[in-house]
Amino acid sequence: MKTQNLIVGCGISGAAMARLLAEKGEHVVIIDSKNHIAGNIYDYYQDGICVHKYGTHIFHTNNKDVWNFVSRFCQWYPYQHKVCGLIDGQIAPIPFNLNTLHTVFPESLANKIEQKLLDNYGLNVKIPILELHKQQDKDLQFLAKYIYEKIFLEYTLKQWGQTPDEIDPSVSGRVPVYISRDNRYFQDKYQGIPISGYTKMIEKMLDHPNIQIKLNTPFNANMEYERLWWTGSIDEFFEFQFGQLPYRSERFEFIKFPYKKFQETAVVNYPCNYEFTRIGEYKHFLNDQSDDTIVSYEYPEAFEEGKNDRYYPIANEQNAQLYRKYLSLAQTKKNIFFFGRLGDYKYYDMDKAVLRCLELFNSVK
Ligand code: UDP
Repeated sequence: MKTQNLIVGCGISGAAMARLLAEKGEHVVIIDSKNHIAGNIYDYYQDGICVHKYGTHIFHTNNKDVWNFVSRFCQWYPYQHKVCGLIDGQIAPIPFNLNTLHTVFPESLANKIEQKLLDNYGLNVKIPILELHKQQDKDLQFLAKYIYEKIFLEYTLKQWGQTPDEIDPSVSGRVPVYISRDNRYFQDKYQGIPISGYTKMIEKMLDHPNIQIKLNTPFNANMEYERLWWTGSIDEFFEFQFGQLPYRSERFEFIKFPYKKFQETAVVNYPCNYEFTRIGEYKHFLNDQSDDTIVSYEYPEAFEEGKNDRYYPIANEQNAQLYRKYLSLAQTKKNIFFFGRLGDYKYYDMDKAVLRCLELFNSVK
């Protein structure tokens, strides 16, 4: 029998779209090749600690519609994300801010640079590292070179296999230098972690009489549908006819330690040291109480079909061109919709993925 709406992929994008359609009275079958819902935001409890299976996820947004929509399916723990990094042997806040400046430099030098930053840019201003790099002032040039080398260069090589100059500037621009004493990673108006975890949030989103979930079910071309909603990689739908869109993947090494706390913040970055990029400690997110702690070491690697999962689209001009070829094919399919990080080949955060669903849904009806 023909399915009215077949959604491929049970991550946040597929689930949000399923809910929107279901509430309009549409019937939805949502499938996923994995054995669980929630895609890469899947989490689970181990020894009283909520662990994010595919790495740390923090929900943050400035968009009220997005926040209101997601808030229907969870209550929030008002967590404010902070990240530190090991810089020249010191643990200091990331993004690089005025507190970082005073941690890594002697006081007189830090004061001088702080004054120059304030004179040139003002307080509470964010500057992408590649912008700061263009500075003519020699003290600010010194600062930019320091931040570039100690925070961005090797981390980005590990993460992307490319330097910050080779990859799209928007990538390093996600973590701008912040002329502020605010140590938070995000300054968005709304920020939090679902109090019962992301999996429960997605479970609630999908809990509607018009939605049928089928796990362990990969898409196949014999499936019949009136409309297809595709959150898998767009090149895969078209059988890679123009070649594969490249992605980066991650390998996580989870370790349980028999002590209460491993590190002061949920995430600590290791830009210049070790093979991993960062360590996440999960009990920080919901203030889980346990005598043990669970951490993950994050090792970036290339995506390879059959070996690991797609995590990050790689933003550069060559890949954008290849994506546009697939997009032009997609536009000829009037009853098939591509969206989500993989469907749009865009480095969406969770809130942007939801916003894309809200906008697509409104445009299709
Ligand atoms: N980045 C870096 N050093 C850091 C943090 C970030 O070089 O200490 C760069 C790196 O290229 C990374 C990008 O900024 O991939 C975006 O970082 P973000 O923390 O947003 O990555 P995500 O959490 O999405 O993996």
